[in-house]
Formats: sequence, C-alpha cells, structure tokens
Amino acid sequence: MRIATALVLSMIACACLAGQAAVENVRMWPAPDRTRIVFDVNGPLEHTLFVLNNPARVVVDLRDTRLESAVDRPTENDKLLERIRHAARNHRDLRVVFDLRKPVRPRSFLLKPNKQYGYRLVVDLYDREDGGDSLKEGIKRAAPEDPRRLRDLIIAIDAGHGGEDPGTIGRKGTREKDVVFSIAKALEAELGREPGMRPVLVRRGDYYIGLRKRMKIARDNRADLFVSVHADSFKDPRVRGSSVYVLSRNGASSEAARWLAEQENAADLVGGVSLDDKDDLLASVLLDLSQTATLSASTDVGTSVLKQLGTLGKTHKRRVQRAGFMVLKSPDIPSILVETAFLSNPTEEKRLRNRKHQHRLAKAMVAGMRSYFKHNAPPGTRLAARSHVIVRGDTLGRIAGLYGVSLGELRRANAIVGSDIRVGQVLTIPGVSGG
Ligand SMILES: [Zn+2]
Repeated sequence: MRIATALVLSMIACACLAGQAAVENVRMWPAPDRTRIVFDVNGPLEHTLFVLNNPARVVVDLRDTRLESAVDRPTENDKLLERIRHAARNHRDLRVVFDLRKPVRPRSFLLKPNKQYGYRLVVDLYDREDGGDSLKEGIKRAAPEDPRRLRDLIIAIDAGHGGEDPGTIGRKGTREKDVVFSIAKALEAELGREPGMRPVLVRRGDYYIGLRKRMKIARDNRADLFVSVHADSFKDPRVRGSSVYVLSRNGASSEAARWLAEQENAADLVGGVSLDDKDDLLASVLLDLSQTATLSASTDVGTSVLKQLGTLGKTHKRRVQRAGFMVLKSPDIPSILVETAFLSNPTEEKRLRNRKHQHRLAKAMVAGMRSYFKHNAPPGTRLAARSHVIVRGDTLGRIAGLYGVSLGELRRANAIVGSDIRVGQVLTIPGVSGG
C-alpha cells in the first residue's frame, strides 16, 4: 500500500515537472523611484502577488514553476530591496519573498517574447514615499533666492535605452545603452562648464525608463531642450556618421528614417510594457495643436548641433532628418534625437568607446546648443540677458552674482575700475550674452 502511494506521488511529481514552467534567470535593475525585478521564464505562467507588513515584504507565488538559476543579492545602492528569498511550495509552486527596506507599491506583469528575450515576469517595486520626487533632481536647486535672479537654461539629456533594453549591439559587443550613457555623462560635464546652462540627466543609471516617462521627467525639470542620445546601426558596416532627428508629424523623411524610428520606438517593448500609452489618441490631438512652434525650434537647434558634429567628421546626412520617434513627442519642449555614430561600423564602434571621443561629441553638441541659444534664449534666462539697469541698493558684487559672472569680468566689460556705480546706469553683462 505504502509503495503504491509513493509510486503515485512520484508519478504526479514527474508529470508536474514535465509541464512545469521554469525561471531561467533573475535580473534586478534599481532605478531612482523603483526597483525592477525580471524573471526570465520559459513560457507563460500564472502568478499572484501580495504585500505583508512588519517587516515590509512582497510575496510572489509562481504557479507550477521551478527555479533553475541562482538569485543574486540586491546591490548595495538598492534603496528598496534588501534581500530575495525563495522556496518550493506545495511540491510544485515557487514562492519568492522580497524583503524590503521600506514599504513599496508593487506592480507585476508578464511580457511576451521579443527579439532579445523570451517570456518575462516583471515585478516593479515603487517607492511609496517617493511620489516621483527623485526624478525631479533639478527643481529644488533651481529655486531662486533673489526674485530678479535670472535662471539657467535647462537641458534634459536622455541617454537612450538602459536596463532590460541594451539598444543596438556593435560587432565587438559594445552595447548602445552603455556608450550613450557615457556620452550623456560627458555632455552633462561639458554643459556644467557652460555659463547659463544647466544639465539634467533623465536616466542616471543602468535601468529602463518608458519613452513617455522620459519626456515627463524633462517636463518636471522644466527643461528648455530635450536631447536624446543614441547610436545607430545599419546592415551595411560601411555606413557611418552622425545624424540629428526631429519629430515628424507626417511620416518620415526617408525609408531608412522610418525603419530607425521603428527600432527606437520598439525600446518600450524590450524594456517593459508602457501602460502610459493608453492616452495615445488624446496625446496626438494635443500634439497637433501645439507642436508647430516647437517643431521649428527643434529643427533649428538640430541644424546647429548637426553642423557642429560635422566638424568631427562627415555626417551621415547633411540635413536634419524627420521621423516619428515617440521620445520626441513633447508638445512644449524643443526636442532632438542625436544618433552620434554607427555602432555597426567597426571604426565608429571603436571611437564611440573612446572617452576622448565621447567628450569631443559632447563638446560639439554643446557648441551647437550655444550657437542656437545665442539668438534664441527664452526670456528670463541668463543667456537672454544682455544688460542690467542699476537700481538703488545694487552693488557690483550682487549684480555679478545675479548673472553668474565674475566681478572682474563685469568690471572689464563696463570699464569700471573701482566699485563706483550709479542708479540708472546701464551695465553690459559679459560672456553669456555673447557680447
Ligand atoms: Zn537607440
């Protein structure tokens, strides 16, 4: 009798194993506002998720599933996730427990296979106390102490792809998400040295951000310009050179541009579903109303940036291209997408990995922005200021601080030897105004 039972049990066990789903790999991507955990699974599966408090935990039960891989420890810099535990349950289910550093809002969903990955179960743990503040890094620092203080131009730098989504991959294995992040950091450093401009990084680490979310971060930071940094690929390895794109409302300027836009837009399918895209129809109506002015500004700043990139070598196309990039669909912020070079070209792949070249690209982009904003700076920004009328209580030091120029520069520009100024006098503000 006992033998028979054992036999039946083992037969059930075998039958289950044969049809069981398997977790083949577990990846973690900590972002500023959430941690994403991705389970690579060998097929569709059912799961349930629930939250426990004291201490804070999230429990995920995967039905009829076994774990076939080791699970790494969360990284030190993970603000939310402390530890992952797992155990078999009911002989055939898998229970995964996330021990948390603080309470979270969890979200989970199953992703279908795409070009890069198979089925994936994604668990997003959102910081419940955050409310999106971690993504608005610029705003607090930008708060003016003096009501007359002029503001810096804010440039949102968007390094394409990230986390789950490597972007295009070069022949030597270079991943687009890595090189464009390095270039974005170089751009941040170069812009940090530029009077009157302040950079804000949209993606600040190796994690994925939905395409619409990228624009939202730029908007939350009150960006004056949105620059998305990418690296191109093409089947012919000889094709090379930088390109600059702006959004097209009526189709792409070429077949290749349309193909590229499709590749870039597919990022959301790799990086995770974007539930934010439900409002697409509404968004497209709003876009039509307000985008005409933004589009012409985008084209102008894009032309200026492309011209400067042309000083580093022959550009891929001589004019700014147009295509339906989702990441550029910002109705109120001029936006450009820079394909810095072709990762599919062996020479350019090598250059893209080179730190010096990354800074050369960044410098060229900054030069393009500088020459555009010299004549198009929004009112209220330092770059738009050219003169200052002295009022009672002004001192040279205070005026210098107001415009972010040095006292010496201010003196030189106005041929002032001491500190003698009078009410009503008009001072020329040097440097940033382009003189
Ligand atoms: Zn890309």
